[in-house]
Amino acid sequence: MVKQSDFISESVVRQEPCRICGSSEGIKIAETEFWNLQNCNIVQCTSCKLIQLDPMITLENTAIGCHAYYLKEIIETPVLEQKRNLLRNYRRGIVFARSLQKKGVHPETILEFGPGSGYFSAGIQFIFPGCRITVVDIVDEVMKMNQEIHVFNVFSGSPEDIRLFEDRKFDLIIARDILEHVTDIGRVILNIAALLNPHGLFHFITPNGKEDVWGHYINWEFRKKPSELLINHVNYFEGAGLLKCLTDSGFSKLEYYTYQVKYALRGKGWKRKEKLAVPVSTKQRADELIRLHEKNQGAQYFQKDEILDVFIFRTKIVWLINLYCRYKHHWLIHLDPRRNVGHEIHALFIKK
Ligand SMILES: [Zn+2]
Repeated sequence: MVKQSDFISESVVRQEPCRICGSSEGIKIAETEFWNLQNCNIVQCTSCKLIQLDPMITLENTAIGCHAYYLKEIIETPVLEQKRNLLRNYRRGIVFARSLQKKGVHPETILEFGPGSGYFSAGIQFIFPGCRITVVDIVDEVMKMNQEIHVFNVFSGSPEDIRLFEDRKFDLIIARDILEHVTDIGRVILNIAALLNPHGLFHFITPNGKEDVWGHYINWEFRKKPSELLINHVNYFEGAGLLKCLTDSGFSKLEYYTYQVKYALRGKGWKRKEKLAVPVSTKQRADELIRLHEKNQGAQYFQKDEILDVFIFRTKIVWLINLYCRYKHHWLIHLDPRRNVGHEIHALFIKK
C-alpha cells in the first residue's frame, strides 16, 4: 500500500552515480533550477535512499550561487536579527559543550567546517577555555571574521579535500548545516573519520531530507515546472540511509535524533497540498545580484564584547549561564531520524 508520505515518482537512469552507494538507478522526485545557473533533477537512490541533485551543481555555479545567496541573506536580515543569531549560536555552543562535559569528554583540539559567525565554537570555548579551535571555510570574509573576532586558527578549504591538514588530527569535528551542501557525501564522511583521533567525536546537524525536499516534490507534482533553488542543498538525507553510511564508515552512534515538529504538523513531509509547494523557478539572476550588492559585503562586523554584553553573561556565574542556555535551547521531543519526521537531525558519533 502506498502511504500518503511516499514519493510517487517515475524511475530514471541517473546522469551521475549515487555518491554513497554508486548505484545509477533512482526515482525522479522533482526538477529544480539553481538560480539562473543550472537545471537539475532531484533524484532518490533506490538502493540507499539518499536524495541528491542529478547532475550535481558544478563547482563554478556553486561558487556564484553561494556568493549571491550570502549577499541576499545580509541584505534581507535586519541587524538586530543578525546580532540575535550570533548570541543564539553562542548559547547553543555552551549547551553542546556542557553535554560533552557531562559525558566526561574534554576535547583539546577542535575542527569546525563552515563555522559561519564562529559563535558556536566560541560557546564551546566558554566551557573548555583551553581548547584549540581550527575553522575551515571557502569564503574569505568568513575566515577573516573568525580570525579577527575569535582568534581561531583558519584554513581555506572544504571537507571534500583534506590534504591541507597533512598529519593533523582532532578530538572533535563539527559540521553544522554543512553536509547537505557537499557534493560527495560518502567521501566527506570518510575524510572526517580520517581526521579524527581514535575515539574522536563527530557532531553535525543537518535538515531532515524528507521535510526539506517536500516543497520541491509537491511543486513538481502539482505544476510540472522546475522549482526555485537559491541555497545549494544538494543532499536530502533519509535517516536510516545516513545512519548506515556513518556506521559503514567507522562511526558508532552516541546521539542521533530529530527535533522540532511544527513543520511536520503543518504537513511538510507527508501532506499532498499545493500550498506546501516551494515557488516555481523564475531564474533569478545570480550575477546581477552580485553586481548590485557586492559593495555591501561584510558590512556587518560586530565586536564580541558588544554581542555578549547581555545580563546573563555579565553575571559570569557559570552554573546560571549553563542553566539559562539549556532552558533556551532544550528540545522536549526527540524522534528517531529513521522515521523521517522532524525539522532537523542532531547527531553525535564516535570514531570506532
Ligand atoms: Zn545510493
